[in-house]
Amino acid sequence: MTRIRDSIELDFCDVLFKPKRTTLNSRQEANVIREYKFKYYPKNLMSCGVMAANMATTGTFEINNVLQKYQAITCLHKHYDFNAPENLKYIAENYDKKESAHNAYTFISTGLKDDKEQVFSLLENKNFKIDKLCIDIANGYIPKLIDFVKEVRDKFPDVLIMVGNIVTGDMTQDLILSGADIVKVGIGPGSVCTTRKLTGVGRPQLSAILECADAAHGVDGFICADGGCTCAGDVAKAYGAGADFVMLGGMFAGTDEAAGDIIEKVIETNEVINKAGEVHLLQKKEKYKQFYGMSSQLAQEKHFGGMACYRASEGKVVEVPYKGSVENVIQEILGGLRSTMAYIGARRLKDIPKCTTFYRVNRQLNEIFGKS
Ligand code: 5GP
Repeated sequence: MTRIRDSIELDFCDVLFKPKRTTLNSRQEANVIREYKFKYYPKNLMSCGVMAANMATTGTFEINNVLQKYQAITCLHKHYDFNAPENLKYIAENYDKKESAHNAYTFISTGLKDDKEQVFSLLENKNFKIDKLCIDIANGYIPKLIDFVKEVRDKFPDVLIMVGNIVTGDMTQDLILSGADIVKVGIGPGSVCTTRKLTGVGRPQLSAILECADAAHGVDGFICADGGCTCAGDVAKAYGAGADFVMLGGMFAGTDEAAGDIIEKVIETNEVINKAGEVHLLQKKEKYKQFYGMSSQLAQEKHFGGMACYRASEGKVVEVPYKGSVENVIQEILGGLRSTMAYIGARRLKDIPKCTTFYRVNRQLNEIFGKS
């Protein structure tokens, strides 16, 4: 029998933080770096919890180089060829440098259909000490995923395992009890995702985070809110709902460090009439970078040699306005987060959910003078 759950399901745009009386006098007193202690991974990690998505455009060495300065994480995309000496050298040096002083902020990624042996051999390689793995599949409910998590946990008791994606508490707990330290939450919220349109499946992201965070924390696990953040305020709301980590694709796209060339376009703006009465079109140049979903037709063609005939594209291709360095984006996110914390009285990142009361709203943004 068909069932309908008619409790209200919320997205980031459906809520705003309630400001509270606080003991913080300035946002500088807010500490956005948290010490994470994991269920299985034996080391602690000092991080702001922000992650670049393991997409071909954003899971790059270049983004990693910048984000790690801010103790933010990059999940490298799985299309790097780690048989290539220059790629191996990068990851080995990156881990070696970081491991002695503080943590390396780099995950490698895999799906279920990928070359397991290559991933295992990287994790086994004693010279590199790569110890953070993101297992990423679109539908985290398939039984094979649980089996794979168990296999990896058995083989690598000391590896930090993040796995997803799901949107319900039951599956969050199953994955953690099978060996995951972090479960990735989000089906359909991504900026270049068309899953909801193609399949009708999904869940508003704020409600998914609320339920999965509660489930994860009950069994000593963590969640990573993956997808749907469009601005610094959304990142803060994800933490407010209980996320431990927040993964971003679109917000890091369009930056210098994201993969892909800058596309310049000449845009015709207003008409002007000169003294001679001639009409001219004013032109301005705008810069963009391409950003595409990892299940889009373009991604399938670029990275998998074409679309399998049983699949339909669940992602799209967009052009994102050029943003300069990713440093601007991460600074804005962390600045926004500190301000949120000052408004709600949270001194530590970990305290944000405790200090959060959301207003449910029907209009989030003041757009009196247009969108900005
Ligand atoms: P964003 O921050 O851009 O809103 O979301 C990023 C997330 O979107 C990624 O981490 C990933 O989970 C999801 N994603 C990336 N590419 C695709 C795609 O082609 N299809 C779907 N369904 N999700 C995607």
